[in-house]
Amino acid sequence: MTPTSSTTAPAFDVVVIGAGIVGLAHAYEALLQGLSVAVVDRAGGAVHGASVRNFGHACITPQTGEARGYATEARRRWLDLAGAAGFTARESGTVVVARTAAELAVVEEYAASDPDTERLDARAVVDRVPVDPDPVVGGAFLPLDLQVDPREAAPAIATWLASQGVRFSWRTTALTVESGRVTTSRATFEADRIVVCTNHDVDRLFPRLAEQADVVRCRLHMLRADVDLRFPLTVPLFTGWSLLRYSGFAAMPSAGALRESLRASLPAGVAWDLNQMYTSPFDGSLIIGDTHVRDVDAPPFQDEAGFELVIAETERLFGVERIRVRERWQGVYASAPGREFLIEEPLPGVHVVTVTTGIGMTTGLGIAPSVLAPRGTATSVPESSTAVAV
Ligand SMILES: Cc1cc2nc3c(=O)[nH]c(=O)nc-3n(C[C@H](O)[C@H](O)[C@H](O)COP(=O)(O)OP(=O)(O)OC[C@H]3O[C@@H](n4cnc5c(N)ncnc54)[C@H](O)[C@@H]3O)c2cc1C
Repeated sequence: MTPTSSTTAPAFDVVVIGAGIVGLAHAYEALLQGLSVAVVDRAGGAVHGASVRNFGHACITPQTGEARGYATEARRRWLDLAGAAGFTARESGTVVVARTAAELAVVEEYAASDPDTERLDARAVVDRVPVDPDPVVGGAFLPLDLQVDPREAAPAIATWLASQGVRFSWRTTALTVESGRVTTSRATFEADRIVVCTNHDVDRLFPRLAEQADVVRCRLHMLRADVDLRFPLTVPLFTGWSLLRYSGFAAMPSAGALRESLRASLPAGVAWDLNQMYTSPFDGSLIIGDTHVRDVDAPPFQDEAGFELVIAETERLFGVERIRVRERWQGVYASAPGREFLIEEPLPGVHVVTVTTGIGMTTGLGIAPSVLAPRGTATSVPESSTAVAV
């Protein structure tokens, strides 16, 4: 079928391709600057991408460098948008539970290095989160982190932006991008600036840019389940596995010893690149994850062994005999070695913005001000950060 791209839409100051959190962030920034903006997405709504398949965890506290700068700005914007668009952004913080001496060593080093982080003893951990008290040796509270319901937040932001005059064109696939012009499966859009926020599908529109940065797809096992907890989980929960993943923790002197300790105690966890973590959407169920497999493509077939691992570790952590799985899904996000962001201007006025590790909910809303800084103004370029695979 020939795409019907012969009509030309009115010209906009900014056209955004992709209505995930990164694309919505740029539409919001353009709106704040008083610019006219259109968003095109090939899906029928903000219902399909990584931005609805995740934990809804804005993990501000343990970010460093460039990511920390974006995360700090994103935190403000999450709270502003929650008020404006009418969704919940909980100022929950995050609890980290340590169940071994190796985990506790990293937690203690991190808490000593970060004035925001509160060190918790074992009693305080089991009072705050409904884990099995038995092996808990301590933990920490990360106060800056936020929690949203990922299935609520992006659609609510899109609806609100539309009410403020942002033009959304759903079920519209961007086919080609050049300076000043996007051809799509419906119409040609002309714009002063174009922002490409297609996540891992950056390689469909800009294959050479993606290849140069070694961008691939990272796919994850995710579950939603009912679990008979001692009491409801009201904060995001990290385990020792999470301490290997975020740049602030991973930089601690004991992180290497923790990796070896986890490798020895649960080799399957290392094989599946486990990040055992939890959030609880506001209905009381648990979002449970996750594993990581990286490749150019993300075949849809999820090996049951990945789910079995995550379920077994969940039952062990909470000291329950059986969890009742409601949903299983595959998450996919862009991943690139040695970098957390691919932010480039490959053509004049065409910006590619891809978060290349699993921190787009944390940082995405904070990236847009520097990308869309009015031309000729100095942008505050945050210092570069050490990339860690999340
Ligand atoms: C399982 C999982 C758990 C995660 N957990 C967390 C977490 O706890 N905290 C955190 O900070 N981050 C987390 N992340 C990462 C975070 O979800 C992503 O970094 C973020 O959602 C990326 O946003 P995005 O807008 O770039 O991509 P997406 O949300 O994937 O949006 C991209 C959009 O582009 C559209 N699109 C693609 N190509 C085209 C085209 N040619 N034309 C038109 N439209 C197109 C797609 O339809 C899609 O809507 C997680 C990710 C996953 C998968």
